[in-house]
Amino acid sequence: MKRIKINGINTYSFKSREELIEYAFSEKKSLIAINAEKLLHANEQMKNIINNNIGYSDGIGAVWALRKKGIKQTLKIPGCELWLDIIRHSYLKKTFYLVGSKKHVIEQTVIKLQSSFPGIKILNYRDGYINTEEEKTALLNDIKDRKPDVVFVALGSPKQELMIEEMLSIHPAVYQGLGGSFDVYVGTVQRAPEWWVKNNLEWAYRLVKQPSRIKRQIHLVRFAWLLLINKI
Ligand code: UDP
Repeated sequence: MKRIKINGINTYSFKSREELIEYAFSEKKSLIAINAEKLLHANEQMKNIINNNIGYSDGIGAVWALRKKGIKQTLKIPGCELWLDIIRHSYLKKTFYLVGSKKHVIEQTVIKLQSSFPGIKILNYRDGYINTEEEKTALLNDIKDRKPDVVFVALGSPKQELMIEEMLSIHPAVYQGLGGSFDVYVGTVQRAPEWWVKNNLEWAYRLVKQPSRIKRQIHLVRFAWLLLINKI
């Protein structure tokens, strides 16, 4: 495992997903997906959060940067696959808690996990629309009482990272922010077909499918340019 700073942000490069998972369980911190958007635009608060946790190369932009800075074997580890790798690796030994996405999505996620991983211990779950302080306090107290080993939080960024900070302060565990991964898991949002994923063109596929993402994807183009002219 290696770690370097890119634009002030600690980014880890792991030899394998296994190594990342073992490290996460030994540290009990938050796994944070690093991509071009975060590397370019994380504010001080987000930088601090990432630097106190485990930022891994989820996006191709982060992989390019790590390779350019000499870590040639850097793996791209998509967050939407990583959470399932964590479950596969540890569902017979560890306990889980799930927060995020719409009510029917989280319900279907739990049902699908229980049938794919018989015996999985999901201590509790809830949707990601936490609208009042009371709801938030109830969630934090529940996590403190149940003490899960792994908590997945799918609220999108930066909401999920901020929520995980609060959770970590009351209960140390492995946390991962998942963005839209529950939606992908139950099929309400489609991931790119395998060919696009294999060729590191997932970002292009998402752009074709959801042209409104151009505002977010443009970061990758700008990031690649800055990397090329050695500004990062
Ligand atoms: N979401 C949520 N609570 C909120 C806002 C969003 O649970 O207050 C969920 C939303 O239903 C979706 C996910 O967060 O499942 C956001 O996914 P998106 O793809 O925007 O995340 P990204 O990975 O792009 O940050």
